[in-house]
Amino acid sequence: MKQVQNDSQSICLIEVKCTKYLNFFVKSLGIGALTEGELMLVLDGKAVSDSVRESLIPRIQGFFTNRGRAPHLTVVVVGDDKASHVYVRNKKIACEKIGMESTIHALPLTSTQKQLTQLLEKLNADDSVDAILVQFPLPAHLSSDEVLKTVSPEKDADGLTFSSLGYFYAGKPIVSPCTPAGVMTILKHYDLAIAGLNAVVVGRSNIVGKPMANLLTDANATVTLCHSRTKNLSDITRAADLVVVAAGKPLLLGREDFKQGAIVIDVGMHGSGLGGKLCGDVRFDELEGWAKAATPVPGGVGPMTITTLLQNTCLLAEKRAGLQPS
Ligand code: NAD
Repeated sequence: MKQVQNDSQSICLIEVKCTKYLNFFVKSLGIGALTEGELMLVLDGKAVSDSVRESLIPRIQGFFTNRGRAPHLTVVVVGDDKASHVYVRNKKIACEKIGMESTIHALPLTSTQKQLTQLLEKLNADDSVDAILVQFPLPAHLSSDEVLKTVSPEKDADGLTFSSLGYFYAGKPIVSPCTPAGVMTILKHYDLAIAGLNAVVVGRSNIVGKPMANLLTDANATVTLCHSRTKNLSDITRAADLVVVAAGKPLLLGREDFKQGAIVIDVGMHGSGLGGKLCGDVRFDELEGWAKAATPVPGGVGPMTITTLLQNTCLLAEKRAGLQPS
């Protein structure tokens, strides 16, 4: 009897030790099995964004010393869409706050494709312009594809023109698309190791999902890309260590769709979730005590998108000037 008790006690002890070591091992890989009562790490995109913006200031000053002017972002907006004009103004303010120059070219709704192309070609050739961004969506009579063909990759602040994406997918990015690059900055800021993780990206748009999957692949994650025709989405997300959700569907996924200890990044942005509150694609409130780390909405991925635009502008300016990005 004593012998049996001793055996079962020692088996228990071995189990406890194994679980402890396994948890330590799993955690050191960045794949967190949460221990009971452990708090979820809230990934504060605003704080990361503030620290990145601060880090840009000496680079901007260095550029100024070298070139006698600040890095310069030009934003082109066509038509009267109020939201577009607010976004464009916010970008200009963000530039000016950290000492970069920004100009806005507001074209009337009646502008033709030819006029828009001519302006972009002029800006491509203008040595005082380091980066160009065309605010989308364009009015219906204008082609965004034409814009994406025209803006020079050396001045493409968004990293979304066809040439820029060619360099990006070939593993030689000039700059990376802003939103997915912002997600990578957040993960890096919090020292969340990505190599070897099973990552799932939900959404396959050219601006978020596909480049996100590419950046995670380049960071040595094993990536599954899901979309609106994916079957059994929840089964796939539940198996992932890291899930980036960019489906554009308010509150689509919640606790039961993630495995315990997963890292959850919510790119979604919706003006009217429950009770008319700003929300994302993930039911963030359900993740406490379950996810290892997650981004809230607002205050997660959103602030990093515009900050990455500033970073891209600075980088393009430095590259054109032959300065070593610091
Ligand atoms: P999109 O509509 O172009 O693409 C959505 C993608 O999600 C599509 O590929 C679609 O196949 C997939 N999808 C839709 N429903 C799905 C479902 N039920 N299951 C699985 N996949 C599904 O959108 P987008 O431009 O990639 O943006 C996605 C979201 O991210 C939106 O909410 C947008 O507002 C937000 N966004 C936020 C930022 C930011 O700075 N925070 C930047 C860009 C986009």
